[in-house]
Amino acid sequence: MSKKISIIVSVYNEEEVLFEFYRETIKVLLLIENPYEIIFVNDGSVDGSRGILFNIAKDDENVRVVHFSRNFGHEAAMIAGIDNASGDYLICMDADLQHPPTLLPEMVRKFESGYDIINMVRTVNKSAGIIKNITSSMFYKVINRLSDIHLVINASDFFGISKRVADVLRSNYREKTRFLRGYVQNVGFNTTNIEYEAGKRFAGKSKYSIKKLFRFSMNTIMTFSNLPLKLGIYAGGMAAFLAIIMMIYTIVSFIRVGTPSGYATTICLICFMFSVLFFIVGIIGEYLGIILSEIKDRPIYIVEEKLNFNKKEL
Ligand code: UDP
Ligand code: MG
Repeated sequence: MSKKISIIVSVYNEEEVLFEFYRETIKVLLLIENPYEIIFVNDGSVDGSRGILFNIAKDDENVRVVHFSRNFGHEAAMIAGIDNASGDYLICMDADLQHPPTLLPEMVRKFESGYDIINMVRTVNKSAGIIKNITSSMFYKVINRLSDIHLVINASDFFGISKRVADVLRSNYREKTRFLRGYVQNVGFNTTNIEYEAGKRFAGKSKYSIKKLFRFSMNTIMTFSNLPLKLGIYAGGMAAFLAIIMMIYTIVSFIRVGTPSGYATTICLICFMFSVLFFIVGIIGEYLGIILSEIKDRPIYIVEEKLNFNKKEL
């Protein structure tokens, strides 16, 4: 029997694109001829997305919907999709058609030839400005340098994983501060990349603000690397070195001129030492926050309602 495909789509206020996404994706899925399901995870949308999803699910029993009780974020939505998928080939996509459904057949071919993880790598991102493109590639370089995993540069939230990878993600990797793309590449198994050109958003606005992206990058670096914590040792060493030089300078100038070195030097040193100190305290605080959220063990997401899940499996 041919394998079942699960398409996982996170949705947050996407009323302008949802139906178009569904139409385009269905067109391609029907050509592939494998059994399929499309799981829309509605991440607490406050526009008409809910109603549109209700209508799509009413007419198509292969469409399943998971409604969150509020907005939990894109990562949580993808995790919920993976948790609820019953297919052999799972594919995560955005709802805005930036991830072209026309690439699905190629992904399925890769699965059939034995790959477990398919990273879709952006060559160009048309809708992102120069700044977003530069900061995004900088982010990958930093995280690769700091952590012990190697992320494929410009891997996107468009990726395919086999059932056995999904099982690993379901049972392990339940951390509260998440970076799914990183986990996927951390699991191992046979991995391949497909390059693609990210198109423009079909309609609507990007839901990722600069602030959200910054938060996201900080969290990722800290969940995958402990190196910033060790910064304290280097900074402490450097500051001690500087302090010794200053001490020697003070003693020498005291012997030669008879007065200790001046007020300005003292202020400079104090400012320098305090900024190093607060920087390190800040980093420790970030890690503490991550540990705290793990200990609190609150749910990654809360489901309010599910549609079409009790239907008999194909
Ligand atoms: N998204 C989500 N929850 C959020 C923000 C975004 O589920 O809190 C979804 C959104 O509906 C879209 C995908 O995540 O399907 C990517 O978001 P977006 O296109 O805004 O990001 P960009 O492509 O600009 O990075
Ligand atoms: Mg987008």
